[in-house]
Amino acid sequence: MQIPGYIDPVPVPRTAPSTDGRTDILGLSRTELRTALIAAGVPEAQARMRTAQVWGWVFNRGVTDFGAMANIAKDTRTLLEQHFVIDRPEVVTAQISEDGTRKWLLRTADAQEYEMVFIPDADRGTLCVSSQVGCTLTCRFCHTGTMKLVRNLTPAEIVGQVMLARDALGEWPSPTDGRLLTNIVMMGMGEPLYNFDNVKAALATVMDEEGIALSSDGSRCPHPVWYR
Ligand code: SF4
Repeated sequence: MQIPGYIDPVPVPRTAPSTDGRTDILGLSRTELRTALIAAGVPEAQARMRTAQVWGWVFNRGVTDFGAMANIAKDTRTLLEQHFVIDRPEVVTAQISEDGTRKWLLRTADAQEYEMVFIPDADRGTLCVSSQVGCTLTCRFCHTGTMKLVRNLTPAEIVGQVMLARDALGEWPSPTDGRLLTNIVMMGMGEPLYNFDNVKAALATVMDEEGIALSSDGSRCPHPVWYR
C-alpha cells in the first residue's frame, strides 16, 4: 500500500561515512559477523566459536573493548581491534525527569543529530528509537515533520541506541528477569517503513535469542511499527 506523504526524491544511498574503515559489530547479524571474522583472518575452523564468543561479549555483557574479551586469545583480540569497533552513539545531551523518563539527543559519526526516549512504567519500560535523521512525512503534530530527511540510520546506529539505553539503565549483563527495558517502539525520528531494511536488520539483532533477546511478539500501532 502506498504510504501517503512526500517521498524524498534524492536517489543517493544515505549510508553513514565510515570513520576509519573498521566495521561496527552492532550492524552485523551473527551470520554476517562469522563471514566478517573469516574475512579479517580468523581461521574458518574457529569462526563459529569466535562468533559465539564475540556475540556474547557484545550483546550479553555490553562490552565495548575487545581487550576485555577474556576467553579470546590475545592475538585474535588484536585482530578484532584492527578490523572492528563496538560503537555507541555520541551523547549530546541526556535528560531525566522526575518520573524517570529519560531523553537523549544523540549524534552520529557524521554529526547528524537525532533523539531517543525511555519511558518507564510500572510493569514495562519502553524505548522510543529513531530510524532516520529527519523525515519525509509532514505529520502536523510532529516537530520532526518540519525537517527534511537527512539520511536513514544504519542498523548499527539503530542497535546502538538500544545498547546505549541499556548502558544507562545498567542492564549488563543481560538480566534473565526484571528487565527495565522491555519494549521498543520505532517512534523516534523518522518513518521506519521508509528505512525498512535497516530497521528490520536492527530489530533482528535486538531480538536474537543469543543476545539481547527482546521478544518478537509484536503488534502494529497507527504510526510506525511496534515491537514488544
Ligand atoms: S517522525 Fe513520525 S510523526 Fe513525525 S513526521 Fe515523521 S512519520 Fe510523522
